[in-house]
Amino acid sequence: MAYLYALVSMGALGLIFGLSLGVAAKKLAVKKDPRVDEILGVLPGANCGACGFPGCSGFASAVAAGKAPVDGCPVGQAAVAHKVAAIMGVECGDSQPKYARVLCLGDRANASDLFRYEGIRDCRAAAMTGGGFKGCAYGCLGLGTCVAACPFDAIHMSPNGLPVVDDSACTGCGKCVRACPRNIIELRTAEETVNVMCKSHARGPEVKQVCKVGCIGCGICAKNCPEKAIAMHDNLAVIDQSKCTRCGVCVQKCPVKCIKNGYPVTSETEIKEAV
Ligand code: SF4
Ligand code: SF4
Repeated sequence: MAYLYALVSMGALGLIFGLSLGVAAKKLAVKKDPRVDEILGVLPGANCGACGFPGCSGFASAVAAGKAPVDGCPVGQAAVAHKVAAIMGVECGDSQPKYARVLCLGDRANASDLFRYEGIRDCRAAAMTGGGFKGCAYGCLGLGTCVAACPFDAIHMSPNGLPVVDDSACTGCGKCVRACPRNIIELRTAEETVNVMCKSHARGPEVKQVCKVGCIGCGICAKNCPEKAIAMHDNLAVIDQSKCTRCGVCVQKCPVKCIKNGYPVTSETEIKEAV
């Protein structure tokens, strides 16, 4: 008899707990926004994190919750942005795709080293070793941390030790930009072809001591630009891409030839080696 009571009471308890759990599951259930899966379906699925969220599903949830912009996936670019906007029922402007640009010409032939570096083959580690082995404190260290950071195999080291971007593979995700300890890489649209290929803020005489093609801050480009698109910032010429008409005057006038029109730039050394 005692056995029967125990069985009935256990069964009753099980029933009560089961019902409570069922009611709680229904009451406390978090309804998933169906747009999350729809957005996920149109994203490229690269899971690169370039949007600033942990993977594509994190980005999709953030968009559906209104916490991320519909055009926040740099890999998908305009085509994906339009699809995400349609799912969200909003308008989306036409943004131009962007590509990584390595703004330094200080390859092994053009720029000198301060000391021989034999540490980890990583630009961040090298930059922390006495400020880096390069004579130019702003120049590319050439150890390819940007190359390793690119999830799309779109950036490779040239024979002379500078990274070169393959536009056909670059998605403009900006991972290389964030990986570079020298802040040498920037994103540009295909139209933004004229660039100062230097990031040095050192004074002219110091630049000349360590690099043959560094910006010496002379300001000749700024004085000659008919559009007033160039300003000098702390010894470095900076081009306002929204004003630049790609007339090429600054490219011709720069005495050290550190302003280039077009990308990738073939260095003088590589031209000589190819001849
Ligand atoms: S080169 Fe840079 S911006 Fe282009 S895909 Fe690779 S990491 Fe992204
Ligand atoms: S661009 Fe930056 S990350 Fe890439 S090799 Fe040069 S220093 Fe290293």
